[in-house]
Amino acid sequence: MQQRIGRSPISLGNYIKQLSKFVLSSSVVLVIAGLTGCGRGDQQTAATTDDANKANAVAENVASIDTERLSAIVKVLASDEFEGRAPGTPGGRKTVKYLIEQFAALGLEPGGENGSWTHTVPMIRTQVQTPAALKFSVGGTLQALQQQTDIAVDTVRPVQSIAIDAPVVFVGFGASAPERDWDDYGDIDLRGKVALYLVNDPDFAAAPDEPVAGRFGDRRMTYYGRWAYKFAEAARRGATAALVIHETAAAGYGWNVPASSPGENYAVVRDAAAADPVTLQGWLHGDAAASLFSAAGYDLDELRVRARSPDFEAFELDDVIFSADLSVQVETIESSNVLAKLPGTSRPDEILMVTSHWDAYGIGEPDTEGRTVRPGANDDALGTAGVLEIARVLAAGPPLARSVVFAAWTAEESGLLGSEAYASDPIYPLEKTVANLTLDILQTAGPARDVILVGEGQSELEDDLKSAAAGQRRVVTPENLPENGLFFRADHFSLAQRGVPVLLIMGIAGGADLVEGGREAGDQWIADYVGSCYHQTCDAWSPDWDLRGAVEDIELFRTIIEDLGNSTRWPQWKEGSEFKAIREQSADARLAR
Ligand SMILES: [Zn+2]
Repeated sequence: MQQRIGRSPISLGNYIKQLSKFVLSSSVVLVIAGLTGCGRGDQQTAATTDDANKANAVAENVASIDTERLSAIVKVLASDEFEGRAPGTPGGRKTVKYLIEQFAALGLEPGGENGSWTHTVPMIRTQVQTPAALKFSVGGTLQALQQQTDIAVDTVRPVQSIAIDAPVVFVGFGASAPERDWDDYGDIDLRGKVALYLVNDPDFAAAPDEPVAGRFGDRRMTYYGRWAYKFAEAARRGATAALVIHETAAAGYGWNVPASSPGENYAVVRDAAAADPVTLQGWLHGDAAASLFSAAGYDLDELRVRARSPDFEAFELDDVIFSADLSVQVETIESSNVLAKLPGTSRPDEILMVTSHWDAYGIGEPDTEGRTVRPGANDDALGTAGVLEIARVLAAGPPLARSVVFAAWTAEESGLLGSEAYASDPIYPLEKTVANLTLDILQTAGPARDVILVGEGQSELEDDLKSAAAGQRRVVTPENLPENGLFFRADHFSLAQRGVPVLLIMGIAGGADLVEGGREAGDQWIADYVGSCYHQTCDAWSPDWDLRGAVEDIELFRTIIEDLGNSTRWPQWKEGSEFKAIREQSADARLAR
């Protein structure tokens, strides 16, 4: 999962606190029989069926996802030799080479640019230098802003210096959501101005009797709630800078997160024709925002309520100027996505994608045992091993009508950059990309009675997931903290925001109902993993992992791919999804010939 400090969506401490508050959903269906026939140590209750399944599998020589192979691949990718797989380093290049060798050995075709196995991803790393002169002036009275304390700003433009002197517009939540009959902008002209946003979406803090209640998914965060949307919308409207007013509950994390490495960011190098992002972006501390509004004659708490009203419209603050004068250090980094293809027999131009990210956090400070490599064994060497295993099994099976493209993205941890680079300049047209299925972190605590769904209500692929799970005598349980917006925070989202239906399996999206220990044990696994290993040196391969649950999750994707691979069906976004309209714009491309 993407969690660049500095741009990060959630703090670990908060996540754990929220997990411990999580109350079990009452809709959990208990499934008595345990597992289907994959992996070792099958449940006694299911032994007869499993034995029969195994016998069939042997008889038909059908390959299945294998725990030992998964473990062996992770052991390699998470070894010290791969140095934590940071993009632009020898460990990163070694990873790309290894993945190419694996895909080639499985008999797949190169799926990258110009007949190669790769897709080049040029990136920049930017660092706003300190001291940075940042301030508001309200009717000539200055309010100085200290980077990291009052404000945390960075840039994704490759510029050496930034100088801004611009009026400030309060845009409320800044949502422009025609499918929800909502528009915060009205006639306001943001060109050359600074857009000031509230965090989350308009109904997050609404009481049940307010007109806005439920309009933006209640507690579930919609795309309009994400800072990424707000910065992009500000850029589309020509704003020079975008600032989001921080609030802990609505952001899902404390000020410590934006303050942890302020001024640093990463971005894909855009081609000349691409639209420019805002020049400066970031967070404004809630206290600094409250002082600004009070000096300008407004009450921030009152404005928060006003912004929840359907007739709220953005307005410029009289006599308020935001100024920034700072220098930026820019570095360039080059890395690669790895892509492999299994061509379809009769409709090869219709593409199913199975993806993960190969990168991890590289080398860092020594831990108490002196380890410096952050091997990203679970995040996301295990997902990548899952992609390779699906590739192996599908390559060994009967060919499919549609093509399957396997991708291992780079630079997910730097802000979904590998997948973003691909989606903004795709090798296979997105309008004929049937679905993207992404694996990012799988639980290693054994078989589970359910699989956790991220982004409930978004697309029909969740129905595919349900029927695949039913085939394993498992059920689908929605993620436990939809307000954290996990749906917008992994690589599948780079495709989703351009209309491709997606499905994400992410082992930390909610505790699974484990066959041994139930939901409590599933939650505990996440608390332990997120609390001490996630993005740290201890996210390491272990011979003690129980990968039977992971295998079952990976098998769900394999089942869905096999089903859609021979189907003429195009899964749709569901009514009310913020991505339905963009998909429909390319509907003609999918009409049967
Ligand atoms: Zn990840």
